[in-house]
Amino acid sequence: MQGKLIVITAPSGAGKTTIARQLLQKFPSLSFSVSATTRPKRPDEEDGKDYFFIDQKEFHERIKRDEFAEWEEVYHGLFYGTLKSEINRIWNEGKQVLFDVDVKGAMALKKRYPQQTLTLFIKPPSVETLFNRLHQRASDPPEKIRERIAKAEQELMFEQFFDAVIVNEDLNKAMQDAETIVGDFLR
Ligand code: 5GP
Repeated sequence: MQGKLIVITAPSGAGKTTIARQLLQKFPSLSFSVSATTRPKRPDEEDGKDYFFIDQKEFHERIKRDEFAEWEEVYHGLFYGTLKSEINRIWNEGKQVLFDVDVKGAMALKKRYPQQTLTLFIKPPSVETLFNRLHQRASDPPEKIRERIAKAEQELMFEQFFDAVIVNEDLNKAMQDAETIVGDFLR
């Protein structure tokens, strides 16, 4: 049985986890897709709950066995991927899948499941003022300013490809917006 997919992405990570947790609480039919990663486990994380922590060898074997719905080298040398088995596990429970993946992962899932996927882009509150601030900060070396602007521009370019954009200026408002959009989609 195939269900729906909701993908949450926030370029800078601000507020994304809180919003995802809130959605999981609010909608009992949603279940979180636990990704596999080669990133080392942080002390507050649990294997199998936050991520499946695996080494690079295993990650590449799983790529070869076609076990991923999508995967990315999100940071240099650090791999993250959505396991097909997670999506199927959740669908088989009669539930819908919630993902926390990067921009490219969101695009890949939308492409793979175009009819069933809602992509949410959580925009950090600083984005609108980011360029101005960066330009005004004369103390930064020009090279660094250029690098930051290029990264911000790259992130912003993806906004248009998402089904919904939530500006996280006020976390409560952002959570309410997310609940409304997800509620409509699940109905
Ligand atoms: P973190 O290391 O902070 O947990 O995650 C780093 C980034 O990797 C976040 O933007 C997160 O959304 C993304 N990410 C986590 N799991 C996956 C995945 O399975 N696929 C992709 N493409 N990105 C992921």
